[in-house]
Amino acid sequence: MIYADANATHPCSKEHLMQVMELLASSQGNPSSIHPLGRRARLLVEQARRAVAECLGAQAKEIYFTSCATESNNWILQALASKALESPQQKLLISAGEHSSVRMTAAALQQQGLCKAVTIGLLPNGKVDTEALLAQVDEDCFAVSLIHAHNETGVINEGEAIAVEAKKRNPALWFHLDAVQSFGKMDLRGLGKSAVDSASFSAHKVGGLQGIGCLFKKEGRILRPLFLGGGQERKLRSGTQNVAGIVSFGLRARYVQENPDWLDTAKQANQKLQQRLRKLPQVLLHVPVAGTVGTVTFFSVGGVPRERLLAAFEEAGICVSAGSACASGVPTPNLTLLAMGVEAWAAAHSLRVSFGEFSTETHAEHVADIVEKAVVALK
Ligand code: PLP
Repeated sequence: MIYADANATHPCSKEHLMQVMELLASSQGNPSSIHPLGRRARLLVEQARRAVAECLGAQAKEIYFTSCATESNNWILQALASKALESPQQKLLISAGEHSSVRMTAAALQQQGLCKAVTIGLLPNGKVDTEALLAQVDEDCFAVSLIHAHNETGVINEGEAIAVEAKKRNPALWFHLDAVQSFGKMDLRGLGKSAVDSASFSAHKVGGLQGIGCLFKKEGRILRPLFLGGGQERKLRSGTQNVAGIVSFGLRARYVQENPDWLDTAKQANQKLQQRLRKLPQVLLHVPVAGTVGTVTFFSVGGVPRERLLAAFEEAGICVSAGSACASGVPTPNLTLLAMGVEAWAAAHSLRVSFGEFSTETHAEHVADIVEKAVVALK
């Protein structure tokens, strides 16, 4: 089996699972309990919080653990929109390349009459149209939510620089960054001191457990909680903490910080794949040559339906991701690709191959072989 779907979930190594288990074995308590086992669990949670914060150049108290980045994105947008009602600032800006957790939340908030969700287009290179975004930032705009590194194209939006420009136009604006796919892939140590007010993260994209995420929220910025209850996470995210997940997140945060080259093999594999695919005129690569995180390839093959390619990958034991949703057997075009100006057929038949720490150039060669065979079969 070749796993080439790291952007969906980067697998946990056995060593990592063992490390998590070892730490957990010594702390079965509830981190809110005052007895020794509770205190031990709390210590683990706080160590992890510090590790995540260090990756962002942030303070530990600016990190709030959540169940996933989907929750973090929902939390921030719902909380901000409820505040917007109290003032005339009603526009929420998002890009056309946002993850569904931002896109669908923004749409729902608009439907509930809580704000006006304005979608900013993308340039053909996959980046948000910064000029168009900034043109929309006025006193009626209460927040911007922008994806940092794109989960499909890998394209990086200059989130921190855009936040600076946006705040020149409206200093009260809240700038949120969906940094799920940049964490561990880019140096984010400047984020804590940047103009970005909040950001979402998820452990399973960097080899941690699934079901644990966090929200970075700058100190002093006020946010209402999404969940009420026991007052965990400094009263902002009630619910007993997922200690196993948090321990895992902390370990992986420490790991990616201490091993900044941990994805070098993934980048080499990705480069190899793109070299091979660029030789095939039927292949439409939806990734620019520069300005990406460098571990993902998003493409369509002219004349080859996606289902045929997926079947070939399945048969060869290679796990890749379909680049668009499939409604009743008919692939619907990928929204990011449509926004980049890719024609509808190619946008509906896209595939994503994403590499991780375990990937090799041989994996890339196998992926390329499958595509090549499909192209040869066309003749
Ligand atoms: N944002 C981006 C850019 C993502 O890639 C993902 C996951 O695919 C999410 C948010 C949601 O993350 P989670 O799986 O933790 O809910």
